[in-house]
Amino acid sequence: MYIFIVADNQYHHISHANYSTVLATPYDMYVSGYDSPGVSVLRLWSAKAPNFNMELFNQGDYAKALGQNSMANSISKILYPNDNHLEGKSLRLRQQYFLCAAAIGDIVNTHMNVYGTLDNLHEKVAIHINDTHPTLAIPELMRILLDDCGYGWEQAWHIVTNTFAYTNHTVMAEALEKWDVNMMNRIIPRIFSIIVEINNRYCQSLMERNGYDSAKTTRMSIIKDNTIHMATLCVVASHSVNGVSKLHSEIIKTDVFKDEAADTPHKFKNVTNGIAYRRWLYQSNPGLTQLLKDTIGNGFLKDAAQLSKFAVFADDDTVLERLIQVKKENKERFAKYVKHSSKVILNTDSIFDVQVKRLHEYKRQHLNVLNILAQYNYLLENPNADFTPKTYIFAAKAAPGYYLAKQIIKMIWAISEEIRKNPRISEKLAVHFIEDYRVTLSELLMPASEISEQISLAGTEASGTGNMKLMLNGAITLGTLDGANVEIKDAVGDDNIIIFGMKTPEVNAAKLDYNPEKLYNENYTIRDCINRMYHGINGCTFNEVADSLKKSDPYMVLADFDSYHEAQNFSTECYNDKMRWAKMSLMNIAGAGIFSADRSVSDYARDIWGL
Ligand SMILES: *Cc1c(COP(=O)(O)O)cnc(C)c1O
Repeated sequence: MYIFIVADNQYHHISHANYSTVLATPYDMYVSGYDSPGVSVLRLWSAKAPNFNMELFNQGDYAKALGQNSMANSISKILYPNDNHLEGKSLRLRQQYFLCAAAIGDIVNTHMNVYGTLDNLHEKVAIHINDTHPTLAIPELMRILLDDCGYGWEQAWHIVTNTFAYTNHTVMAEALEKWDVNMMNRIIPRIFSIIVEINNRYCQSLMERNGYDSAKTTRMSIIKDNTIHMATLCVVASHSVNGVSKLHSEIIKTDVFKDEAADTPHKFKNVTNGIAYRRWLYQSNPGLTQLLKDTIGNGFLKDAAQLSKFAVFADDDTVLERLIQVKKENKERFAKYVKHSSKVILNTDSIFDVQVKRLHEYKRQHLNVLNILAQYNYLLENPNADFTPKTYIFAAKAAPGYYLAKQIIKMIWAISEEIRKNPRISEKLAVHFIEDYRVTLSELLMPASEISEQISLAGTEASGTGNMKLMLNGAITLGTLDGANVEIKDAVGDDNIIIFGMKTPEVNAAKLDYNPEKLYNENYTIRDCINRMYHGINGCTFNEVADSLKKSDPYMVLADFDSYHEAQNFSTECYNDKMRWAKMSLMNIAGAGIFSADRSVSDYARDIWGL
């Protein structure tokens, strides 16, 4: 409960009642730059109950005293495991407010110790909202300025809107964060009332700018249908809004935030993601690092742009042979790990075709599966066919509550087992699902990869970073024109990437009258593969996956199937020309420099934080 009284002085007299206190303890991690005196601090927070509420206990309210204690202690215990999916639970909202309040309180205290005022906060501090999870930092800073420091609304809003910048990470509706107004009002009532006031003032100003178009104002409102739209709040309260690849930043302006981009065009920017390339090259691929040192010198370790010098060796057979040798050794190193951890023997003379990323329908691991089933069917019918041996490697985590994702993992495992039981086929075609996908596993796998599967439906993957790690390690991208794949294509040239499938505008057009059942009925390869899911793979049926593809296919797997199948066959054709493939691989390494996080961070510093 809170009581809100506007007094004649500037202070809003807020008195809080029936609240519970949570203590935030900082844990500092020191992060050192490569060969640099610079050390950054990453401050993490742990939630604790301050001390047992003896007063409540003495009043006889044992349950409440215990409840407050365990709620406080539970706030920072778990990380919600979803990826690109909203979890609207009250504990999640408490976590978000806890972390925002701890961070904003800390920033304000540090600033006050130096300047003794918050008047200049926006001139000295940049706060970046990385996805919508920390959106509550915005109303929390407003709360401190209004309730604790006595600023008027206009001045507080000026400071806030010149301090915050926002990065959007997804445009998919199911992932956009929304909170029920009743839940927000129950858990953080004062913060809720500030969001309502931000929205009232915003809608009023919109009405004036929109010529009193109330339908448009409702469309753009932060609060509608009893839900608070966190991304909209971020756009309204930030001086900068960016996507994480050129394509994604365009989609933000023409689709999700079309009205907002027309209203405040100066806010909308792009910063393409990057990767910690010294981790993904120097630390995880010593063989390739040595080859680069021997050919282009050591400069690339501090300046990723220098990787482009490697392109000079694109037709140098000695360098290409060494590159082939490095890949072979990395495949053997990885095969050794797999043998050790799962007793499975990988054929290191086969193509290593890799799809490793969180399991999600939009990423379309089941498109890959469908093509494997088609190849399996082909080999069953043509056991003596000439077939370049191929190993499909998958790794993925699924959120525990995402049933279809877990079915897809089970299906990959089932195919893998069924093929393994047929020695004649498994010489040519193998599938392996690696458990417990994580960065340390990636560090072994990326250097061993030859084909990088980046096959999301165009318009759904905001950027991708796995695609960058894989190209840096010499894998050739087999992908759609989605996220940063578009910029990878620009960086390596059309000859050094394999592109298939619909482009974003084609997806938008095809969605209007999409009929997957028709594709199922008319395309016998698709029908055979989906029927296999119904009839059983290694004795397990996958009716839900099959139904989803046949009846709704929300990510248009069937629409891209033929094109994907063709691209897969083309990749084998390229691979069979050993020197051509090595040259493609070399051009990918040489083109990876712009995907360094050093470049991304410089873009943020220059274009957004004004450093
Ligand atoms: C890079 C990485 C990701 C992101 O992969 P995408 O293919 O961009 O989705 C996910 N998990 C781990 C462990 C990674 O290393």
